[in-house]
Amino acid sequence: MSSGISPRAAIVIGAGFGGLALAIRLQSAGIATTLLEARDKPGGRAYVWREDGHVFDAGPTVITDPPSLQELWSLTGQDMSRDVTLLPVSPFYRLLWPDGKCFDYTNDDEALEREIAAFNPDDLAGYRRFLSYSEEVYQEGYLRLGTVPFLKLGQMLQAAPALLRLRAYRSVYSVVARYIRDPHLRQAFSFHTLLVGGNPFSTSSIYALIHALERRGGVWFAKGGTNALVTGMVALFERLGGTLRLNARVERIEMDGARASGVALADGRRLTADMVASNADVMHSYRDLLGSTRRGRTKAALLKRQRWSMSLFVIHFGLSQKPEGLRHHTILFGPRYRELVNEIFRGPKLAEDFSLYLHSPSVTDDSLAPAGMSTHYVLAPVPHLGRARIDWATEGNAYADRILASLEERLIPNLRANLRVKRIFSPADFASELNAHHGSAFSVEPILTQSAWFRPHNRDRSIRNFYIVGAGSHPGAGIPGVVGSAKATAGVMLADAGAT
Ligand SMILES: Cc1cc2nc3c(=O)[nH]c(=O)nc-3n(C[C@H](O)[C@H](O)[C@H](O)COP(=O)(O)OP(=O)(O)OC[C@H]3O[C@@H](n4cnc5c(N)ncnc54)[C@H](O)[C@@H]3O)c2cc1C
Repeated sequence: MSSGISPRAAIVIGAGFGGLALAIRLQSAGIATTLLEARDKPGGRAYVWREDGHVFDAGPTVITDPPSLQELWSLTGQDMSRDVTLLPVSPFYRLLWPDGKCFDYTNDDEALEREIAAFNPDDLAGYRRFLSYSEEVYQEGYLRLGTVPFLKLGQMLQAAPALLRLRAYRSVYSVVARYIRDPHLRQAFSFHTLLVGGNPFSTSSIYALIHALERRGGVWFAKGGTNALVTGMVALFERLGGTLRLNARVERIEMDGARASGVALADGRRLTADMVASNADVMHSYRDLLGSTRRGRTKAALLKRQRWSMSLFVIHFGLSQKPEGLRHHTILFGPRYRELVNEIFRGPKLAEDFSLYLHSPSVTDDSLAPAGMSTHYVLAPVPHLGRARIDWATEGNAYADRILASLEERLIPNLRANLRVKRIFSPADFASELNAHHGSAFSVEPILTQSAWFRPHNRDRSIRNFYIVGAGSHPGAGIPGVVGSAKATAGVMLADAGAT
């Protein structure tokens, strides 16, 4: 069966944040857009499960830079508040160490400086210098370059002087360590790269911009959970006249000579389009969806040689009580930092210790659990499947038990006695559910030599009407990153379609 789409029609493969944002931008500009999602719900890494009255957001929980989302509504004169309510989160994070130290990372200058001074008063001046460095890289790396499609090497060369001036070849940790002496504070101001799949000890210091991004725009949570933001984006897309098809797994991208002509779905349906964009994992897109083309095979071979971000082991759980004193976001550092992070990124096995991120959305939003109960997830960064060949089906439960025991000991007394629902999402699930290469949680690793022009381009070099959007393209992972990639990719597509 073949269903043709009108001229100036686009197909977007994958309804993650990047695919949705791109589809909204294209549809807003008058391009008839069909969004094809393999799973039964949109959202990708921001999928949602509901079980026994608990609402479990699968992935992103920290919403930053609301204006980048609002812009999707503003394109057609609409207001995001029609579909989504964002709630402020404070403190942004509570950080805990095994030695009992605690740091509340807030957006209140005075409170934050008090917290810093409690660790080391001499670090206050260094922190202020770090903040102004972070501001500078935010201006350059996020505002100026974050949504530029790096299609030509010349663009990279133009950006080079600024990158050199900001010494982007240094790591985030080395920059933080230059300004701040206390070892706990060094962790507090460098761990953020892990939220976008970067090793603080090797990710370019450009990523120090995350600190300024949070300080300027705040940390937010979508009422009803992050998937409510996804639902809001779908509502906007469909109101604009766009078509979302769920359970629509693309099996291959069809070609007409050197151009993409449409897609074939796993159920045998075929759709045609003038432009095809993929929000699916970038390796899956080239190796599998374009595997019958020479370009697909060549690019897949290149991608195979790239470094991929670590994976995550996530335990979603519902409790029959609401623990007291919890904050919405808690980071529980382990006994080691540099060594642990390096083992996570290099393998070859699962470390004995772990650092954890605990999400407790019931702190902000009562609707995510039955009355008097609470919903959580706890995650540990772990090596991807290419770095450590762990059989998660057999090792997962024991690892989950160790993590929950540690959480019970350090933060939530009686956790296991009050456990009503538990669900595990391991690197093997990232691979099978999301077609993620090596089960990576964040795609291609964000190091300088894999950023901007060096990252998979927003438009393919040879197949001129095939585009990439999402974590695997510029600028990279994280909601602001993939929404920025959608802006970059849409800009190229609209120019190619003569719609700008
Ligand atoms: C546990 C976790 C926590 C995170 N926390 C945060 C956070 O707090 N804040 C933040 O900003 N970021 C966070 N991130 C990162 C952020 O979630 C991701 O970078 C971002 O959501 C990725 O979006 P994407 O557009 O690249 O697409 P993805 O979410 O990867 O979606 C791709 C979509 O393509 C679909 N697809 C794949 N193959 C096919 C096919 N053949 N046919 C059709 N469809 C296909 C998939 O099913 C999927 O829906 C987190 C990530 C994880 C995993």
